[in-house]
Amino acid sequence: MATTFTYDVVIIGAGPAGMCAGMYAGRSMLKTVVLERGFPGGELLNTELIEDYPGFEHVLGHELAQKFADHAAKFGAEFKTGVIVESVRKLGDGTFETRTESGDLYVSPSVIITAGGTPVKLGVPGELEYAGKGVSYCAICDGAFFREQTIAVIGGGDAAVEESDFLTRYASKVYLIHRRHELRASKILQERLLSNPKIEVIWDTVVDRVEGDEQGLVRSLKLRDVNTGDERDLAVTGMFVFIGFRPNTGIIADHVAHDDMGYLVTDANMQTSMRGLFAAGDVRSQLTRQVTTAVGDATTAAIAAEKYLKALEDGNPAERLAGTGGYAV
Ligand code: NAP
Repeated sequence: MATTFTYDVVIIGAGPAGMCAGMYAGRSMLKTVVLERGFPGGELLNTELIEDYPGFEHVLGHELAQKFADHAAKFGAEFKTGVIVESVRKLGDGTFETRTESGDLYVSPSVIITAGGTPVKLGVPGELEYAGKGVSYCAICDGAFFREQTIAVIGGGDAAVEESDFLTRYASKVYLIHRRHELRASKILQERLLSNPKIEVIWDTVVDRVEGDEQGLVRSLKLRDVNTGDERDLAVTGMFVFIGFRPNTGIIADHVAHDDMGYLVTDANMQTSMRGLFAAGDVRSQLTRQVTTAVGDATTAAIAAEKYLKALEDGNPAERLAGTGGYAV
């Protein structure tokens, strides 16, 4: 049976940003719930080893996720997993209504969206099986694991071209595999790519399958020339896929400002163009998307949400009714 729950703050998505926001909101004694469709962890669960989180020289992604979740729960944040959020809507009285696929309603005066984004997948056999074992969607996160190795990058846009160049800091050889004979990337990035002696472009080619060795690590890619249909094996130990990234913003029912790639635009307090709706982590328009930036955003968002709630409590009806009005954070 569908149920209505009432909270001070509803956090959507239990990746690093959501769990950190949960910790801060819980610690501020706000009645807090973190809604997650899978398990707490987000992108941490797709990352084998993390080497760039301060204080942890090496930590397994799932271990760090567990620490984040335990820490947030210790301060009173409630986690609800297996919950798929269908929509978030702001009602006329300024309250938010978060509706789940099962019909439950979460009513709250503030919402923090930490729903992240999803790298577009190739959708070929072996891709998901070897994710975190040679298949990656993040060069900054995983590049250092491929020192002096031969790897492949898939895509022909700015991201694929820029990250191929970046990956040559580590890899001895990078194949850029593109399905056409023309790159979509900007000219300046193309020039940098083509003048890098460690990069070789394989044109008009798609990956049909990712293959692994007996240790369960990537060993080769089965390639197909789209013009001739010829197949061949390419020996690589890594495959980085950059064929697009989609922020998970489709649940927001009303118009909220976003950049031209769909990421939510916030002010310095992580508040979106809608009063009371905050965003943190990969879903937010910003320069880079790291665990460290996600938790930084989330800290600000949770503290700003607390101050927003205090302003409402102190009786600022304009704030509540029209979603406008001043409060200092
Ligand atoms: P993108 O520009 O949409 O490019 C995606 C690339 O992946 C395209 O080359 C596309 O091939 C290819 N692709 C798509 N689906 C594929 C599939 N199933 N199999 C094989 N290849 C596939 O995406 P992006 O590179 O992530 O960039 C997204 C946005 O971010 C762009 O606006 C970009 O300018 C911006 N960006 C800018 C910078 C920068 O300025 N430094 C860096 C990163 C991203 P086709 O070309 O054949 O369609």
